[in-house]
Amino acid sequence: MSNNKPMPVATEISAPFWEGLKARRLLVQQCGACAQWLFYPRRHCPACLAPDPAWHEVSGQATLYSYTLTRIPTLPDFIDEMPQKLAVVELAEGVRVNTTLVGLEEEQIRIGMPLQPVFAQVDGKGTRLLRFTGLDQNAAALESAHVVEVVAPVEVPDNRLQVDCQDGAALQALVSEQYSDWSNSLLVDQALIDAFAELSGDDYWIHTDPERARRSSPFGGTIAHGALVQVLQSRLKLALGFEITGFTTQINYGSDRLRFPAPVPAGSRIHARARVKAVELNQRGTQLTLEINTHVVGQERPSVINDLVILYQR
Ligand SMILES: [Zn+2]
Repeated sequence: MSNNKPMPVATEISAPFWEGLKARRLLVQQCGACAQWLFYPRRHCPACLAPDPAWHEVSGQATLYSYTLTRIPTLPDFIDEMPQKLAVVELAEGVRVNTTLVGLEEEQIRIGMPLQPVFAQVDGKGTRLLRFTGLDQNAAALESAHVVEVVAPVEVPDNRLQVDCQDGAALQALVSEQYSDWSNSLLVDQALIDAFAELSGDDYWIHTDPERARRSSPFGGTIAHGALVQVLQSRLKLALGFEITGFTTQINYGSDRLRFPAPVPAGSRIHARARVKAVELNQRGTQLTLEINTHVVGQERPSVINDLVILYQR
């Protein structure tokens, strides 16, 4: 899925570690003076303070030292990996690494279990993170489990019309029957639907049980919750040709109309377009009603129609 997961930022000291991962090699430092292995990367040996420990490739053989399962994502961007299996892993060399377990169900995880490294690819640019899995898992297949899709940013015109939130005439001129261009698109996969089912408590089989849905659903498979598709609007950058200025607060005032006319089957891509439906200046401030229509890419009929009311206050 596309999102903003934090990516490693290599420093002068840590760069060999990250470059090693890109080449699917695990490099760890060892002190040349006292033979102490060290991790994280450092400039001096923590045991004898000798400088410039040397990098060595190690096998990645490890055991599970400790772990925890997070039921709430550590950052919202990790909602597709719930529960996160955060672990401290001890390499055969004795150093401990903070990491994430992959490819293991909760009931398969045991303190002390032997582990192997997974050089997990996390973006389209070759960046890899060091993760671990059980010895009976297919580490190579797990490498691409969480590739973050690189979404081309939508070109926002530099010459976006600036409209002051008190300028009634200019605001009225924004009202149009014409929709904007399409936003970026986003993949709605089963992992995302499952995460939303867990979060919302709506785990009805039509969303969460692909096998039963294939047999019994009128849609031939699972579909996303309407509410999920609605909130995913936050990940879609609307290609509006204007910008409202001159306010101090912008409030999501709710919705005048919310409809789910068409399903979003698991595995679909969605995108959205919008138009200004109404503008009203009243004692609360400037109230702008934006009709946002979210569609499965290529589908004429919208999956979500949301007449979103935004309140601008000075
Ligand atoms: Zn040393």
